Amino acid sequence: MKRNYDLSTRCVHAGEANDAEGSPHTPIYNTTTFGFRSTADLLDVVEGRRPGNLYTRYGLNPTIRSVEAKLASLENAESALVFASGMAAEAALFFTYGRKGIVCLGNAYGGTLALLTDHLPLLGVPTTLLLGGEVGKLDEVLKQGHGLVFLETPTNPTMEIFDIREISRLSHSHGALVAVDNTFASPINQQVLALGADIAVHSATKYLGGHSDLTGGALMGSKDLIEPVAPWRKNLGQMMAPEVAGLLSRSLRTLPIRVERQNRTAQAVAEAMRNHPKVARVLYPGLQDFPQHALAGSQMSGFGGMLTLEINGSGENATKVIDGLELIIIAPSLGGPESLATQPMTTTHHGLAPEERLKRGITDSMIRFSIGMEAAEDLIEDLNSALENV
Ligand SMILES: *Cc1c(COP(=O)(O)O)cnc(C)c1O
Repeated sequence: MKRNYDLSTRCVHAGEANDAEGSPHTPIYNTTTFGFRSTADLLDVVEGRRPGNLYTRYGLNPTIRSVEAKLASLENAESALVFASGMAAEAALFFTYGRKGIVCLGNAYGGTLALLTDHLPLLGVPTTLLLGGEVGKLDEVLKQGHGLVFLETPTNPTMEIFDIREISRLSHSHGALVAVDNTFASPINQQVLALGADIAVHSATKYLGGHSDLTGGALMGSKDLIEPVAPWRKNLGQMMAPEVAGLLSRSLRTLPIRVERQNRTAQAVAEAMRNHPKVARVLYPGLQDFPQHALAGSQMSGFGGMLTLEINGSGENATKVIDGLELIIIAPSLGGPESLATQPMTTTHHGLAPEERLKRGITDSMIRFSIGMEAAEDLIEDLNSALENV
């Protein structure tokens, strides 16, 4: 496919194979293995003389390759790999490029922090966590020889923004690679490779899947960087199933319209809540008075569907509000058609001591929302009526 098509067009057409039966998109090859006409034919594929299908766990399956080509195109990357989950993608990335050490910036996803603090150090991998306010120490830390800088932007649940251009420039000057978890923004709102990062990381479970019905992950980047990850995925057994890959391709065709709608609705909800007498703060990068609004605007083309409200008073007040919601569902995860709400205190950051949460700017009275596909008026009405509980 030509490179210069618009992102929306690529969401529909990139990676789709012309099927002999006339299907407009790649069928699901629900197959674990593929047959050959001769040993010579088999050896051509095994020894890499021609691309071919072989065994699904290796990724050598047309449905897997098709969704990978589409995903690569969405991040304007040469190559992509899919995984059984976002955490599988991160683990493979860390095994491939983090062995000399990993610096993680800010408030990363809970599973990422667990991998970096509880598991990888057991294998002798040095890991350093820097909070947002400590990003000035990155230069010093990178002198220790860490090979990989990992960050999310915006981060959960405070919507903190990191300057991808500046962090990439600094990290590259130390010879370190930069991987950005682009799950929250999605490639529609933020093109991390164009901003200077080396690898885009996704939990496809969220916006890419977009329907709360599949678990998956992806890495995108240059061919030189992505190819060495494939043997780790293969031998750690982290492959995505072909049925899931077909479902993910289905979802990606509508990604731009879903994300654009979620951007608009989140902006409307944020604006409706900012002057509510029971709301202390609205954290949404699209608000003019959000502290990092200008930085967000310099690297994002839309501000996303995630926002956090801080309710006046104690954490109990926030619990009363969340328990008073009728339409919005109390659940972790994000990016689906149903709007979801979580109190970081009870879910995503439950494992942290209260002092640790405060150090990260997370208060007990915060509620994080993933805005879905419902009408903004209905969500605002649900919030207004739940806020009457306090
Ligand atoms: C959910 C999530 C992950 C982990 O993805 P899974 O698909 O649940 O393994 C990683 N990073 C971010 C930002 C997430 O939201």
